[in-house]
Amino acid sequence: TTHLVWLRNDLRINDNLALHAACRDSKANVIALFMATPEQWQQHEMSPKQAAFIHASLLEVQDALAERGIRLHYQACNTFSDSIDALAAFCEKQKVDQLFYNYQYEVNERQRDAEAEKRLDKAGVICQGFDDSLLLAPGSVQSGDRSMYKVFTPFSKAFVRRLQQGLPECVPAPKAREGAPLKTQAIPAFDYPKGEFDRDLFPPGETAALKRLRHFAKQPVLDYPDKRDLPALDATSRLSVYLATGVLSPRQCLHRVLHEHPDALDNSRAFTWLNELIWREFYRHLLVAYPSLCRHKPFVDWTHRVEWQRNEAHFDAWKAGKTGFPIVDAAMRQMKEMGWMHNRLRMITASFLVKDLLIDWREGERYFMQQLIDGDLAANNGGWQWAASTGTDAAPYFRIFNPTTQGERFDPQGDFIRHYLPELADVPDSDIHQPHRWAEKHHKKLDYPAPIVDHKAARKKTLDAFERAKSAA
Ligand code: FAD
Repeated sequence: TTHLVWLRNDLRINDNLALHAACRDSKANVIALFMATPEQWQQHEMSPKQAAFIHASLLEVQDALAERGIRLHYQACNTFSDSIDALAAFCEKQKVDQLFYNYQYEVNERQRDAEAEKRLDKAGVICQGFDDSLLLAPGSVQSGDRSMYKVFTPFSKAFVRRLQQGLPECVPAPKAREGAPLKTQAIPAFDYPKGEFDRDLFPPGETAALKRLRHFAKQPVLDYPDKRDLPALDATSRLSVYLATGVLSPRQCLHRVLHEHPDALDNSRAFTWLNELIWREFYRHLLVAYPSLCRHKPFVDWTHRVEWQRNEAHFDAWKAGKTGFPIVDAAMRQMKEMGWMHNRLRMITASFLVKDLLIDWREGERYFMQQLIDGDLAANNGGWQWAASTGTDAAPYFRIFNPTTQGERFDPQGDFIRHYLPELADVPDSDIHQPHRWAEKHHKKLDYPAPIVDHKAARKKTLDAFERAKSAA
């Protein structure tokens, strides 16, 4: 019998539930398939950096599978719809008996999978899907009335109780099969806008991911509660790209932390980080409970009445890191350069776009996806709706970040700002968050824009816009 593993967002051989299940029968002929769908990826705003990272990680998986006697086939399609035809033809050609794949939870992906199963079912191929990219399956953590939690903290508490009752186990990489090792053929570059990413920061492949995880789970995870909000430090795991593309599984993260810190679930210091993984679960579970989140809908209905402003000059200044607010600008330049932005800065820049510029959060959500190497619909949408006060567990709309004081709090000496804004090199620490005030006082000329809005006035305008939308309910 022939077993096919359809690889998508699960580019690893360790703890891959679909791959593991496909290999259980030691006599089966196991093959794997990856289909590029560049047109679909463009529609989903996948960043060129992420596409490049996926390609590089795919080469690693191909080698790891070949070593174990499993051939990875590659096909270039355009859209998900094309990929269903390609998959059906491939199964027929290779005489596939069973298909194994790991679920994705976004609506287009789910629709594709449902259609693919229907097609293959007709052709007599048995299909099995797995909840692989999560610690606990969507729908398995519910409130007393059997619905999805709308607020994070009770979800997290219920989640931990579930974990304490029984941990999701990791499964091993498959053993070498007959015929191993196989020779591999180079997978051509995707037909996608070219993206470059820093291989020192984000070395592709699961060996590198596991190494970073092992390092982080020792000491840095214990320092995380104190240092996580300081963007000048390398104090967070930087594992998001691996989790977003499935090069690493959240079960591997959980078990590694528990291995180092057996009390990690019992409110220890290490729990702060595990709780971030639970945020990741929260947003994915929400997508399944509320598919409209994938369709650009705000979670809090009345917020669709907020009258957003269209101001291309402001939007361009935000994207280019030229708003005149140093912490915002440094953050936006970090994302452009690295394809990654520190979490505190994602909150500050998102809040700035929505609450200071009154620009529709969906514009920012889209731009982040186009830039981020770790772009992930659930987390990105969740983060944007949180910042815009349109989401489930959102900051109330009247709580508005002050970008200057945020900078003072989280980058007190301006170390982070100076790294990305060399034009402020001469400004002393005490003035780094308001460089124009300093320049004026000392009659200096700065090659740096003046603030594009007055925060106080912008705040008032936004509060008015939200209040009008709310009272029209
Ligand atoms: P760590 O602090 O080490 O956290 C560990 C892991 O937990 C992360 O790798 C990530 O998988 C998960 N995680 C952490 N925080 C969150 C969160 N708030 N929501 C969901 N998962 C979380 N994360 C993405 O992976 N992709 C995105 O596209 C994305 N867009 C965001 C947009 C906005 C506006 C905001 C406010 C947050 C966004 N996040 C996103 C969440 C978070 O900022 C990143 O996961 C984090 O900065 C990645 O760095 P790290 O791996 O060092 O995180």
